[in-house]
Amino acid sequence: MPTMPAETPPAALRLEIDRDALASNWAALHRLSRPARTGAAVKADGYGVGARTAATVLRPAGSSDFFVAHWSEVQDLLDVVPADAISVLHGPLTPADAAFACATGVRPVINSIMQARLWSEAGGGLCDLMVDTGINRLGLPLADLGDEAVRRLRVDVLMSHLASADEDVPLNGVQLARWHELRRAVPHARASLANSAGIALGSAYHGELTRPGLALYGGVPRPELASEIRQVVRPMAAVLQVRELTAGDGVGYNSTFVAERRMRVGVIALGYADGYLRCWSGKGLLRSQGRRLAVVGRVSMDMTVIDLTAAPDVGEGDWVEVDYNLPQAAAASGLSQYELLTLLGRRFGR
Ligand SMILES: *Cc1c(COP(=O)(O)O)cnc(C)c1O
Repeated sequence: MPTMPAETPPAALRLEIDRDALASNWAALHRLSRPARTGAAVKADGYGVGARTAATVLRPAGSSDFFVAHWSEVQDLLDVVPADAISVLHGPLTPADAAFACATGVRPVINSIMQARLWSEAGGGLCDLMVDTGINRLGLPLADLGDEAVRRLRVDVLMSHLASADEDVPLNGVQLARWHELRRAVPHARASLANSAGIALGSAYHGELTRPGLALYGGVPRPELASEIRQVVRPMAAVLQVRELTAGDGVGYNSTFVAERRMRVGVIALGYADGYLRCWSGKGLLRSQGRRLAVVGRVSMDMTVIDLTAAPDVGEGDWVEVDYNLPQAAAASGLSQYELLTLLGRRFGR
């Protein structure tokens, strides 16, 4: 008979978040952004790190503004960040969204004439305005700037978003010129253009506020940032079982790996349902005290098998670290650094 209420034991999978590295990355981006202020994109649960965790570290570090995509992402932040420091990038789609902004005091980012009208009808107030200067994604077209509903807006952050700041292409200069024109045309308190990569393009791109996301969490979108940015996220997994293979034994679904000799392998509690996608099959790398432990065979939903030849002391219940240096992992997997972060699933203890 059970005698105590069962508490869920810790997962055999956890994300180690280096808070010092997170704060240090923000400070590095702020040094590059100054005298502009530096905010933080914490959408998608802080790129997988945890939006609350990120905000809890970055607010005391000095981050002035926090950007989420969805209205549903606001609640998580309200007791760690002042409401008027939160902007919702997708803007209001329904009267309920606008009413929620009014009730909480968070700022909507207005992206269209329809959103401008919705915001006015809800009572309006200070908002941000996203104008499209060439990415042709969400944002007010330049041609709509003269619209009556848009002209009535009281704009705090006047922003635009760069399409290719991680590359050296003419579009960066084109967007920059349009954004400078915009700054003259639309009354606003603060202007903002640069994401992480845009910060490295230089002070002309900074305005009064920068909006880094990826680089805060250890991503390196441009080589200029490589020496400034530290790894923040370290996925760790426990070894569930160790087994001995003999020559000819196949491993995992479809036996895509066949042992050529006797070898020791470990089964770890990490699979594609956790965001460790099948592209890592036969390619991924784990580490134990610096020793390299290659993924063998297919990654499956909840498990991956690794070669323990280099680490004879690693046994059942021991933890190994997933090699997750973002620029290198992106090159090895074909996934983007953004995907590598935001894929990391709900089963990780954070
Ligand atoms: C996600 C996002 C950012 C942050 O971009 P990174 O490339 O991750 O630095 C900044 N601004 C807007 C509008 C965004 O959607």
